[in-house]
Amino acid sequence: MSYDTQPKASHFIDGTYVEDTGGPTIPVIYPATGAQIAELHAATPAIIDRALSAAHHAQKQWAALSGTERGRILRRAADMMRERNRDLSVLETYDTGKPLQETLVADATSGADALEYFGGLAGSLTGEHIQLGEDWVYTRREPLGVCLGIGAWNYPTQIACWKGAPALACGNSMVFKPSETTPLSALKVAEILVEAGLPAGVFNVVQGFGDVGSSLVSDRRVAKVSLTGSVPTGKKVYAAAAAQMKHVTMELGGKSPMVIFDDADLDNAVGGAIMGNFYSSGQVCSNGTRVFVQKGLKAAFLERLTERLSNAVIGDPMNEQTSFGPMVSEKQMKIVLDYIEKGEKEGARLVTGGKRLDRDGFYLQPTVFADVTDDMTIAREEIFGPVMAVLEFETEEEAIRRGNDTEFGLSAGVFTRDLSRAHRVIGQLEAGSCYINSYNDAPVEAPFGGTKMSGVGRENSREAINHYSELKSVYVRMGDIEAPY
Ligand code: NDP
Repeated sequence: MSYDTQPKASHFIDGTYVEDTGGPTIPVIYPATGAQIAELHAATPAIIDRALSAAHHAQKQWAALSGTERGRILRRAADMMRERNRDLSVLETYDTGKPLQETLVADATSGADALEYFGGLAGSLTGEHIQLGEDWVYTRREPLGVCLGIGAWNYPTQIACWKGAPALACGNSMVFKPSETTPLSALKVAEILVEAGLPAGVFNVVQGFGDVGSSLVSDRRVAKVSLTGSVPTGKKVYAAAAAQMKHVTMELGGKSPMVIFDDADLDNAVGGAIMGNFYSSGQVCSNGTRVFVQKGLKAAFLERLTERLSNAVIGDPMNEQTSFGPMVSEKQMKIVLDYIEKGEKEGARLVTGGKRLDRDGFYLQPTVFADVTDDMTIAREEIFGPVMAVLEFETEEEAIRRGNDTEFGLSAGVFTRDLSRAHRVIGQLEAGSCYINSYNDAPVEAPFGGTKMSGVGRENSREAINHYSELKSVYVRMGDIEAPY
């Protein structure tokens, strides 16, 4: 396929591509082959300063536009993303290794949904009027200023849009730092936004490793930090933001429970477990990686699961028939192989998979462990790969207690035909994004985010507006002030 994966330059600042080869090299590796497909440079202090200064200067003028004007630009960008979906999907596949079958329907399209949704909301962002006798208070919904977005590597286009769209709709500007593992896609988002009419400097992309992220977080020009990443990084970034009392959104990791009762529709439960463990080769934060299956259904569940997994088409992600691609990087593949080894050593039963594939690229087999107990490492730590842990349970109370026995709280799912039980159980599971007889849906209209160690704040939906703006209250006195002296 002839596709130029080398971007014009590493960074996108003040409406244009910018290079500074003084920064450390970032080789971009295509996960399906291990070949280098581009070379970028991490931001130098001069680039960081330039991006923040551009964002700072552009923000006030952007905020001075009416919401409808801002929204129109975002909606135009959404249309352009949809028109260019195929090209953007191919690039996302090069960036991440995810199969084209997925990227065609889950990345630029989901980014376009966010731009369209928040573009539509921009014109209706208002404060309120509070009457107090003759006096009154009105509130103004104001932007925060320069927002910093820091992305993980699994959904680079989507993450840039999920952060950029609500931030921009509210009148903020943004500096976005993608993960150095997947630096290509966000540059295209910036390019499209500018082509759609976004004023220069409102959305900027700078590349870099954690140190670039860290310099950005602690810069006084940044008013808000939105991170998608792991819990350890989240703790560091949250602490650095707290030192200057910055607003934060933290979308972090998970080890989510999926509870499958005896009365569940078997194929739906198996389908949910597949989507919630193996989509994007398991590199999804909200995955239901602890699959609690009630005793009576366990044997049938494992049998049907193994049968359906044998239909996975593993191979070239650019082939649209391929339904299971490589891991994002050699590093991530090794991390997952270590977990698989620990699973075996600690006594879990390997039902299927467990091996690296004998081919170029970072391919692992979809892996299922059964007879997993709550104390095993593979049941406690986020693996972020195609490894499902199946745990057996007997009673509803037990499933809830064991499901909640984790520091994480991102997602949870319940499969049952008894809807009273479904609502009762989901009401008691400690998680932010939950599913009944489904798994991993993330429509832009619904809030998304975690509780406990999995995060702070919510992305998507009207709720995201509260995290990218603040209210100013204005008390208006109509009469005289009574002062005691
Ligand atoms: P990391 O936490 O390693 O990195 C996230 C981002 O933070 C990267 O851009 C990284 O840069 C940057 N970073 C690292 N250290 C710092 C620092 N000290 N200050 C500022 N920025 C820093 O996560 P991964 O990229 O490995 O992504 C996987 C994780 O993301 C998983 O835990 C997953 O659960 C989570 N995730 C959560 C989602 C959610 O919505 N809840 C969605 C998707 C993923 P660099 O990579 O260059 O080091």
